[in-house]
Amino acid sequence: MSNEEQGVVGIVGAGLVGALNAIYFAQRGWKVELYELRPDMRLPVHRESRRGKSINLALSERGLSALRATGLDLEKTILEASVPMKARMVHINGTQMSQAYSVNGKHINAVDRARLNELLLDAAEEMKNVTVHFEHRLLQADMDNNNLEFMVANEEKRVYHHDLVIGADGAYSKMRSQMMRRMRMDYNQEYIDTGYCELSMPPATGPDGKPTFALDPNHLHIWPRHTFMLIALPNPDYSFTCTLFMPFQMFEDIKTEEQLIQFFTENFLDSIPLIGEESLKKDFFANPRGSLVTVKASPHNYEDKSLIIGDAAHAMVPFYGQGMNCGFQDVEVLHQILDRHHIKPVSKSNRIEGLKEALDDYSKTRVKDAHAICDLALYNYYEMSHAVTSIKFLARKKLEGVIHYWFPSIIIPLYTMVSFSTLPYSRAIERWHRQSHWLNVAMISTTLATASLVASVGFKYRDQFLPTVRSAIDTMKHLF
Ligand code: FAD
Repeated sequence: MSNEEQGVVGIVGAGLVGALNAIYFAQRGWKVELYELRPDMRLPVHRESRRGKSINLALSERGLSALRATGLDLEKTILEASVPMKARMVHINGTQMSQAYSVNGKHINAVDRARLNELLLDAAEEMKNVTVHFEHRLLQADMDNNNLEFMVANEEKRVYHHDLVIGADGAYSKMRSQMMRRMRMDYNQEYIDTGYCELSMPPATGPDGKPTFALDPNHLHIWPRHTFMLIALPNPDYSFTCTLFMPFQMFEDIKTEEQLIQFFTENFLDSIPLIGEESLKKDFFANPRGSLVTVKASPHNYEDKSLIIGDAAHAMVPFYGQGMNCGFQDVEVLHQILDRHHIKPVSKSNRIEGLKEALDDYSKTRVKDAHAICDLALYNYYEMSHAVTSIKFLARKKLEGVIHYWFPSIIIPLYTMVSFSTLPYSRAIERWHRQSHWLNVAMISTTLATASLVASVGFKYRDQFLPTVRSAIDTMKHLF
């Protein structure tokens, strides 16, 4: 059976999620037309222009699982080019505190976004039933007839027909806005008042004169400062990509190089020699300020005609490192559902049997998970920028980790469920709420047990103990 007879899918957006989806559709025998507004990023001229601009991403189990399920070498190849991060390194007052992501030594991986995208495009193009159309900007979509109109290389308009169209065109998706004109899609978009700016930390020079990492490479470094923070992720070339997250007003208040250096001296002193004053000034004033938006949409499909996936369906703030991972999982879940519904080739009525049921099923399954991770991502900003410095939070994490280590099926830390499993996000949240109740009970019991132990020891040795307490009270009276 030819690929046209299986079905022709048009995928808009050859970013991370669109390119992976093209591979999955090609593997199920469809003819794939992949459209991308940018020129081919693999061409030397474009590689050169993005030098120093590429950001790295944390790739974890959901993303890895989707790469693995292709049966290609994608997971192995990308992991070879990644840096494992086994813990957070929290920088406070010039000291560093390592907080492991897992009691079992599991890690997340820092990968180069552009390298990953190139790898996926290479793999897609190796399949004979995939055609990638660069410099194709989607202008409009005729939803009922599955026709997509593109502006090609800023010169001419062209229309293409498909059996199914998929929008993987990112947070500001044109496909999504076209679908919303035709159907009743609930839609919510919310910016947070925090923006971000990337700074780069170059390799240091080791004692042997060779380049080396300026900080421990197997950590995601965080300088949490409550309402703002700096983070740094390692790159295989020994550099780190740092991202400064803070309210837009704070960015605007820093107008001169002197103000910038003063701000860093007051807040991130230890990072200045590592980034380098000149590089810090250059990056801070030259690099753009990014906005952070949450997008929720429901449903994700319009009958059996169109679907949105990845950021087009659920953009989230980046604090859980899950945007791409969630988008990759969309692709894996979509194809599991298509398999379950035994999609049949195009019939005489020009419809694909089972496709509507499958896409409805996908929306039903995935919308709640997309909403759940969007909410969790916002919560994690609080955890990264603020909670990691609180003793109560750390004590609770410790207790959670200990219980998980000894009874792994009773308590699973939220971070483990999100980053080291493929459990649907909505189920992870439900389980987290249930566990929180039992953890609170355990925390209160531990506190009471410790207090009664201290009280009974204090009572037994009260003759030695009381004078010490009295002198402590006297000292405090003098102090206040
Ligand atoms: P995109 O990557 O946005 O790709 C969309 C593609 O569609 C682009 O190639 C675009 O050119 C193309 N396109 C757009 N409009 C059109 C059009 N009209 N016609 C044709 N083509 C079009 N995620 C993680 O999992 N881990 C992380 O650590 C992480 N860190 C992040 C840090 C930051 C600062 C940010 C901003 C995001 C981070 N993310 C992270 C999120 C991640 O970048 C996104 O979730 C991911 O890129 C989404 O992929 P996508 O393919 O859906 O969309």
